[in-house]
Amino acid sequence: MTYVVTDACIRCKYMDCVEVCPVDCFYEGENMLVINPSECIDCGVCEPECPAEAILPDTENGLEKWLELNRTYSEQWPNITTKGEAPADADAMKAETDKFDKYFSPNPGSGS
Ligand code: SF4
Ligand code: SF4
Repeated sequence: MTYVVTDACIRCKYMDCVEVCPVDCFYEGENMLVINPSECIDCGVCEPECPAEAILPDTENGLEKWLELNRTYSEQWPNITTKGEAPADADAMKAETDKFDKYFSPNPGSGS
């Protein structure tokens, strides 16, 4: 199994998760992060740290799409290990749903 980043991260991107991951397996897109499923050691430390509750174990139902997205983009986006500044409207975006269809961007972030 692995943990995966899901819809709630999009345009929230608080980055609290990257500070606690013992194996530095987060990767940064323009407006969300993903986990590399091959590198994640399933420790679960990041899950309660996410203010948006975007991180879930892939054992939960219906996460196949997110597992695939995390795998795909962790191979394309740069690694991130240091918390940066969240988007100015991150708190407002936290209440939104179905953010993938509205806002997902395949563009890479800057990494750090
Ligand atoms: S803490 Fe949650 S919302 Fe923030 S970047 Fe990590 S996964 Fe995304
Ligand atoms: S479960 Fe552990 S290893 Fe996997 S992404 Fe979260 S903190 Fe990193």
